[in-house]
Amino acid sequence: MDTDALLSWYRQSRRTMPWREEVSPYRTLVSELMLQQTRVETVIPYFERFMRSFPTEVALAEAPLERVLEHWSGLGYYSRARNLHAAARKVMELGGFPKTVAGLLELPGVGPYTAGAIASIALGLDAPLVDGNVERVLCRHDARAEDPVRIKKELWERATTLLPKGQASDFNQGLMELGATICTPSSPRCLFCPIRSTCRGHDAPERYPQKAPRAAVPEARACALLVRDGEKILMARRPLSGLLAGLWEPPMANGEEPQASVGTRLGVQLRVQRPVGEVLHVFTHLRLTTLVFEAELAGTPETGGYLELRWVPEAEVDSLALSTLARKLLQAHAAKAKPRKRRVPRDPELPS
Ligand code: SF4
Repeated sequence: MDTDALLSWYRQSRRTMPWREEVSPYRTLVSELMLQQTRVETVIPYFERFMRSFPTEVALAEAPLERVLEHWSGLGYYSRARNLHAAARKVMELGGFPKTVAGLLELPGVGPYTAGAIASIALGLDAPLVDGNVERVLCRHDARAEDPVRIKKELWERATTLLPKGQASDFNQGLMELGATICTPSSPRCLFCPIRSTCRGHDAPERYPQKAPRAAVPEARACALLVRDGEKILMARRPLSGLLAGLWEPPMANGEEPQASVGTRLGVQLRVQRPVGEVLHVFTHLRLTTLVFEAELAGTPETGGYLELRWVPEAEVDSLALSTLARKLLQAHAAKAKPRKRRVPRDPELPS
């Protein structure tokens, strides 16, 4: 690979990003965790707000988890926020960030890719990294058609061999930037590629790599209730472990009939029910369709496995740590009032 050409292209063409303007192990950790499965444009405002509230690992370690989740609300994959908080506390215990890849791997939520990113970008170590973009660039450059999952070890070895000494930060970021902007999954722009002269796959880049088909995602249905009392709305907080742990949502339960599902869960009769919308939310492991109803309760609800039920002034609901699904459910009524055709974004949230 023409690494000199890649380095000089990266230094001239790299995009401006807030985590590149000022570099530290903490800022790299936060940005890399936010960027997992999430687009750069989505992450930037979250990162800036997060840094204003938690400018250092000390500030983050001292903050309650609930507040950290509030700052993550809408970003999905909430286990990342919990890991980040735990990692900041571990760094405090250790008296500072580890100075080796092996030490970084001991932090919660830090795998080989994130450890490589912190080590090379923030600590200046000669550490390789391989993410989805790097996989694609290496496979195309070397004309390898195998599924990257099957040749992961070889790709890490290749990234290690290619690494120019003392320049790991720009090299790693250059490979990732190339994959994100030039060697893209569906429309690679080989004519503008700085490593075209050594690339064996540039004649037919779409042939490399060939990913094995993934299993179909199962479907499920649920009901959610919008229960109002004057200016307040009933919200429920999920348990601290499991899917969307610790986050707030309108009360909901599996099933297609509100009384049999949510009514039973809360141990209460629903007096009035009016359907207001239907929300599709795609998790990594599940496509969930939720039917949303406005309802009144004929008694006092039980927590039904939730950590807490709370009447929240509607104007304050946005400041709770809401999952993306919860935001969509709360907007279901407005969405029905103004129907419009739109693509349902894939917004994966993982079980913790
Ligand atoms: S020449 Fe084309 S296929 Fe090869 S690395 Fe560049 S953009 Fe990707």
